[in-house]
Amino acid sequence: MATDPTPSRRQFLKTAAAASVGAATFGAAPRVVGARTPALQKAAGPVVISSRNGTNAVQKAWDMIQTGADALDAVVAGVNLVEEDPNDTSVGYGGLPNANGVVQLDSACMHGPTGRAGGVGCIEGIKYPSKVAKLVLERTDHVLLVGQGAQDFAVMHGFPVENLLTERARLAWVQWRENLSTRDEYLPPHDANTSDIGADYEPQQRTWGTIHCSAIDLAGNISSVTTTSGLAYKIPGRVGDSPIIGAGLYCDNEVGAAGSTGRGEANLENLASFLIVERIRMGDSPEQACLYACERIADHTRKAYLLNDKGEPDFNVQFYALNKAGEVGGAEIRGGRGKFAAINSDGPFLVDLAYLYKNER
Ligand code: ASP
Repeated sequence: MATDPTPSRRQFLKTAAAASVGAATFGAAPRVVGARTPALQKAAGPVVISSRNGTNAVQKAWDMIQTGADALDAVVAGVNLVEEDPNDTSVGYGGLPNANGVVQLDSACMHGPTGRAGGVGCIEGIKYPSKVAKLVLERTDHVLLVGQGAQDFAVMHGFPVENLLTERARLAWVQWRENLSTRDEYLPPHDANTSDIGADYEPQQRTWGTIHCSAIDLAGNISSVTTTSGLAYKIPGRVGDSPIIGAGLYCDNEVGAAGSTGRGEANLENLASFLIVERIRMGDSPEQACLYACERIADHTRKAYLLNDKGEPDFNVQFYALNKAGEVGGAEIRGGRGKFAAINSDGPFLVDLAYLYKNER
């Protein structure tokens, strides 16, 4: 088995956090709860970050920001390119469907300067859920619309209802359906305190995927968006982390932004994007804050079927973050090869994701 450098790093992070000297060890200012480091007061310049599938999205958002666009307009326009791409089976049109063969989409966005948020969950037939999320933010006093109500709201604003199930996604669903077994997302009856829930249960390897995008614009304002078709073949009606403010994304105009992809259930139980922004507020770099969130999820994962034989989470979640100074960083639970997309005045670049455990698959 490959040597895994991460448990010691994990241990180190724990020790450093306990002693409140982690930031000093990493070369940043010591952490003081509630205080901001001087670097976080002012943005150094625009920057856009995205999950790995967003290289076109960050370029689009960057180009708009250079013409003076607000960061929210820019990130939503960026992810629209992925929502309409039939070849990305994790987002929008072409996304893999739920267990009934229906594409159900989740998205949310957040606007730093106003602190407003909007989202849609389980929306069907609408190709650009992030645009609808932005309309919820702009044209309602609500934050989250779901299901038929979300679709009705989109139709009210002129969106056509379309068939989002491409032939490629339909054939993938048919193959899954034809091989249905007991290995689905339903669990047998059990006591909630039972730690080996479904110990005999072997979850199937599911396809995950999403796009998150955050940016700082020319005015130094921060905004974020996340959009997804969610977990492939999910139980109909399932909502993941992506449209939940604080889980799938969070931004604070004075501090920074964070977003996620991967196993949404793990993020929903830890509200990790909010946690990351709070850690940045306390002085963590974006990468440190993302690793801290991975650590939190790992510590809170107790269901036996989610752990490998070493007791480590046997799934992945990725986090992407930036701070007000324009620094970027990300981390994932299981990694070694993961990267995310970014662009600043030096041009586009890929950033390595830090990780807790080496991915042995
Ligand atoms: N986080 C998304 C969800 O749980 C899926 C993903 O990113 O793969 O719906």
